Amino acid sequence: ICHTSVKRTTALVRRIQGAAHEEKEKESFDNIKQLLDPCLVCQKRPRNGNIVHGKSAHLVACFRCAKMLRKGRSPCPVCKKEIHGVIKVFMA
Ligand SMILES: [Zn+2]
Ligand SMILES: [Zn+2]
Repeated sequence: ICHTSVKRTTALVRRIQGAAHEEKEKESFDNIKQLLDPCLVCQKRPRNGNIVHGKSAHLVACFRCAKMLRKGRSPCPVCKKEIHGVIKVFMA
């Protein structure tokens, strides 16, 4: 009896882990959809100005607006970290 209940618990844990995995997949898909939105600042141009801070970056603005934020010493509009650099992104 004991052995069977352990087996059942393992199956349940697997099912929960599977559900969590699906949730993560959906989340990354939402991120891709966000990428296709226009620039957060001008709402016109595509998001191709990657705002770099440390070892991470936020892709929320076009290259022109991202450069403008950096020049004006504004922080990243998403996480408020200091902008270390702006990179022009090419989708390929
Ligand atoms: Zn812009
Ligand atoms: Zn940021």
